Amino acid sequence: MSFKDLQLNKPILRAIAEAGYDNPTLVQEKTIPFVLEKKDVIVSAQTGTGKTAAFALPILQSLFDYQDAPKNGKKIKALIVSPTRELAVQIFENFKTYSTYTNLRTAVIFGGTSIEPQKDILNKGVDILIATPGRLLDLHKQDIVNLDYVETLVLDEADLMLDMGFIDDVKKIERLCTKEKQILLFSATIPYKVEQLANTILKAPERIEVAPNSSTSRNINQVLYYVPKRNKIELCLHLLRNTIKGSIIIFRRTKFGVDKLEKTLLKNGYKVDSIHGDKTQNLRQEALNKFKNGYVNILIATDVAARGIDINELDAVINFDLPNIPETYVHRIGRTARAGKSGTAYSLCSADEKTYIKNIQQLIQLQLDVVEDHPYPLDPKAKPIVHKSNKTGSKHKKGRKSEASKKKKKRWY
Ligand code: AMP
Repeated sequence: MSFKDLQLNKPILRAIAEAGYDNPTLVQEKTIPFVLEKKDVIVSAQTGTGKTAAFALPILQSLFDYQDAPKNGKKIKALIVSPTRELAVQIFENFKTYSTYTNLRTAVIFGGTSIEPQKDILNKGVDILIATPGRLLDLHKQDIVNLDYVETLVLDEADLMLDMGFIDDVKKIERLCTKEKQILLFSATIPYKVEQLANTILKAPERIEVAPNSSTSRNINQVLYYVPKRNKIELCLHLLRNTIKGSIIIFRRTKFGVDKLEKTLLKNGYKVDSIHGDKTQNLRQEALNKFKNGYVNILIATDVAARGIDINELDAVINFDLPNIPETYVHRIGRTARAGKSGTAYSLCSADEKTYIKNIQQLIQLQLDVVEDHPYPLDPKAKPIVHKSNKTGSKHKKGRKSEASKKKKKRWY
């Protein structure tokens, strides 16, 4: 199938051609016709599949007829809600590219940065708004954002949005838009809570599923090192010195862990930067740019900070800490070996992470190759270290939004 078959008009086709896309990806081929028919859709697809264009192109196509409205008479007709700031910026850049030859105006708003310039842009009138939930509601409360004319609402990375505690915000945003709007829900995975949300707000949605192009990719070499927790940093340094070269993302579970590893690697002369939820937007963007431009070749990240970000051409992913949610492993390693290239995912597993590895292997239906020949082997009989605690449940359960973030509660991601 070609983009022409999808009935996109010339200015959009021209921008797509200039972006270097020859043909639509699978998710685009399946999704675009439904969006143009104004149907609600649930799309299960990961970053890297071309999912952004799958909603951006038909939205631009549908709004094309409004493009010549006088600037200050423009109303927000499409609203894209994104859980993270980086992802919002990335979606914005995609819209800019595809709308080059139209008069449609796109804006992006997100927290963690000055609100005034965002107000100025909104006051000038935009057709398409990309936003993170908190800042959107804030600006709506101040009467700067009017959602009365939204025809298409996109919820991107819905699973992450819910993981981050945005459920009430998302529901509120949905209610602030018109009843008749079309909703497009994109999610890497569709866990029960996403399904529940979809059931409450979508109308007879079409379902589209695009198999993850990650864990199943034969181009990703996946290896496992059993190592005592206390030796992980040494093993990481050993691997960076001897085995792993090129452009690398290292995942850690907490921002504390990210900072600690960054300091050690810097001390050892590596070119490294990091992203996590406690860094300002500017610092995070700067780190990403440095990594993308090759100024540093190692990026250390928490999952939440890195999700959805399109970083191509990775040579390796290191799972310094293993994720407790097996799907997260799939997201992480999917960042290497994109577009037919090869890459390696290295996982460091300590005694207390053995259950995680079991669950991961079950999910991906693959036994990872264990590398035994390394200087810090784990005694196979080693037992996990148990930390005693009186607490029941996680104190972070409520996610980053609402009361916690208002009180500037520290985030762990
Ligand atoms: P996404 O899944 O939206 O993050 O897109 C992943 C990458 O694929 C981005 O760098 C896009 O620019 C690129 N892309 C999107 N659609 C196509 C296409 N039809 N052909 C080639 N590349 C594409």
